[in-house]
Amino acid sequence: MKLKEAKFTTDFINEIKAMYAVDLKETSSLEQFIALGHLIKRYDADNWTRTSKSYRKNDDKQVYYFSIEFLPGRLLQSNLLNLDILDTVSSGLKNLGLDFEKICEAEPDPGLGNGGLGRLAACYMDSMASLGMAGNGNGIRYRYGLFKQVFMNGYQVELPDDWLRNGNVWEVRRENRACLVRFGGHVWLQEQEDGALRPVYDHTDDVLAVPYDIGMAGYHNDVTNTLRLWSAELPPSADQTYYSQQQRDNIDDITKVLYPDDSNAEGRSLRLRQEYFFSSAGMQSIVRHYFLDHTSLKYFAQKVAVHINDTHPTLVIPELMRILLDEYDCSWDTAWQITAATMSYTNHTIMQEALEKWPIDMFKGLLPRIYQIVEEIDRRYRVEKTPIFGDNVVDRTAPLGDGQVRMAYLAVIGSHSVNGVAPLHTELLKKDVLADLYRIYPEKFNNKTNGIADRRWLELANRPLTKLIDHKIGTDWHSNPKQLQTLSAFENDTEFLHQLAEVKAINKQKLADYVQEKMNITLNTSAIFDVQIKRLHAYKRQLLHALEIIREYLDIKDHPKKDVTPRVHIFGAKAAPSYHYAKSVIKVINALADLVNNDPTIGDKLKVVFIPNYGVSLGELIIPAADISEQISTASKEASGTSNMKLMTNGALSLATMDGANIDIVKAAGAENEYTFGLTADDVYGYYHRGDYRARTFYDDNPELQRIVGSLIDNMIPGITTEGHEIYDSLLQYNDEYFVLADYAAYVAKQEKISHDFNDVEAWQKRSLANIAASGTFSADYAVARYAEDIWQVPYNRILK
Ligand SMILES: *Cc1c(COP(=O)(O)O)cnc(C)c1O
Repeated sequence: MKLKEAKFTTDFINEIKAMYAVDLKETSSLEQFIALGHLIKRYDADNWTRTSKSYRKNDDKQVYYFSIEFLPGRLLQSNLLNLDILDTVSSGLKNLGLDFEKICEAEPDPGLGNGGLGRLAACYMDSMASLGMAGNGNGIRYRYGLFKQVFMNGYQVELPDDWLRNGNVWEVRRENRACLVRFGGHVWLQEQEDGALRPVYDHTDDVLAVPYDIGMAGYHNDVTNTLRLWSAELPPSADQTYYSQQQRDNIDDITKVLYPDDSNAEGRSLRLRQEYFFSSAGMQSIVRHYFLDHTSLKYFAQKVAVHINDTHPTLVIPELMRILLDEYDCSWDTAWQITAATMSYTNHTIMQEALEKWPIDMFKGLLPRIYQIVEEIDRRYRVEKTPIFGDNVVDRTAPLGDGQVRMAYLAVIGSHSVNGVAPLHTELLKKDVLADLYRIYPEKFNNKTNGIADRRWLELANRPLTKLIDHKIGTDWHSNPKQLQTLSAFENDTEFLHQLAEVKAINKQKLADYVQEKMNITLNTSAIFDVQIKRLHAYKRQLLHALEIIREYLDIKDHPKKDVTPRVHIFGAKAAPSYHYAKSVIKVINALADLVNNDPTIGDKLKVVFIPNYGVSLGELIIPAADISEQISTASKEASGTSNMKLMTNGALSLATMDGANIDIVKAAGAENEYTFGLTADDVYGYYHRGDYRARTFYDDNPELQRIVGSLIDNMIPGITTEGHEIYDSLLQYNDEYFVLADYAAYVAKQEKISHDFNDVEAWQKRSLANIAASGTFSADYAVARYAEDIWQVPYNRILK
């Protein structure tokens, strides 16, 4: 949009006056942010209205991306950037004597997701709008986001994230679009006068689903799409009906908190209620919207694509069936044909413990009509497939089995497309996790490698680098990130390489200032910034990184005169509150940090910082400052990873196992520009098949490793008596489930090579440049374009070169 600075400043001053009835100089940064947010939303309102109108007028096919998490990060700067008014607004505010950065930081960071899954959904929202695609998000408006993490005596403590305390400036409450969602009670089918069987419900608990819409502005294209988040409220009859406090609480609870575990499926009834709640409300509003402009269901699947991001929204399948059967009198076959043609599903994990399964008793009690429909899907599946594939395969893959509703199987059976999120992951789905279903439906399976929003993770998060790149190759890459590849022409331009090093130094200083202020630790910015930021999980192996720190510490202690390349090890990670082992790893790393950072003989050579409360905003600060990107999951366990892509595009070199999208990153940037090590997925599966992994052998054969692992239990690290033993036992007594000891030697060798290589600034920056140049292919714009072409069959406007 076009905006003159003078108009903006007048509008802003008026907004402040109207909202707070005081002069600008008396307002806080938070008030300034809120007023600015409202003003920007108003600026965008035209685009938003026009976009929805034009989709309706053109009868465009709509994509609805269902995800139980959206982790958008702060929206002020990304909205300004996408609306093309970032410079005008920041300069206007500066000329009013205001601190733009402080205003941006006053915005709460909505923690409506745990990690990669929710962040992916948010990146895809940005790309759908930026591609000019009719894409909508559908999720839950959690009253409290993911807990706020603080450390007390090195232990993680969880505090509530009251992100809505001052409201959410970006949202619009649309009570007139609310729907009723039914839980519990009894249901039976009754023959109507017209002969049709329709369900009759008795004693149900009804919940009102109220949508809150957030505009998703596209990049410089005047398109604004909608992210719709649902909130649970008392139904409108509440005035006449008596609701006990218990009943009110039961309704409030549905959208009160996000489940804080992203790797263990919680078999709790509240989670199932959350899942049905947003699946049902979303599906109802989609059908209602469709019928605004259509009179028959005939074109439904041509006009609507529903995407199931991981299994949590799988109940959209039986819910659409319910609506078609019960409310539109469709035959089963027609309803099923429409449903499967509408739905598509992305699988995000191969870990058994993360696959959702619901006890049938719980499911049936909570969702009796939906259960009847799932039973019928199951029955027909068995009837159709058993003659071809036999009892065993069909029993193993049916939606109902072992007394459970198996969500992933239901999702595959009820969708026309099933995708993994990196080539290795998709292969493992076909070979292992969903192998039987792959035999039955080979045509459904495809790969869509994850992507990231470069505009957020590079253009906004790393302004100095963006400026440097723009200066070198212009700005076309902002809408066509693959053009970053043209940077490789400058790989021998030593002046440019030194400029890259200067940019990195600026970003490291900015992070160091934050760490100084918040943690009172002084970082040596000429050290290697070695970064591992992601959820704390055994398979991600923060422990392997911790062992390296112990090794470096002992090495400096043993050889005080040795010339070492200084290191700063930087962690950011939340552990699920109930994940005992992960919390022990946090405690151990914090204890190590205390030991190392306070040892005067170590000085500047080694520092360890575990920055509390990792989230999108901290990521934006840490990622541009990274020299090394630790992507060291046990091969086969990380479906794709996306922090690997964010770090790559900011010039970090990967220290990585051949897992998930690391493989594709290495291929794109060239193996000589990364540090890869360790067991491959084939090696890991080999151990599983033979059953012959012996962690103890790796330990027995390596005296250095014995000393390092031993230091977990010999009081060298103060304050970790129980945690040290627990981790020690996980490695030696319980045979090291994630192959830490098997990969140790190879990992350490690469760390030593890094310490050596880092000293050659030009060679290092040349490899950093190779990473930046190759990173464009991991832009979410391309990923979403592939979804649009191959899965959703929807057109988009932006031309990707
Ligand atoms: C990108 C991102 C993640 C995902 O990180 P992985 O290392 O791919 O697991 C998690 N949390 C936040 C806040 C992110 O921005």
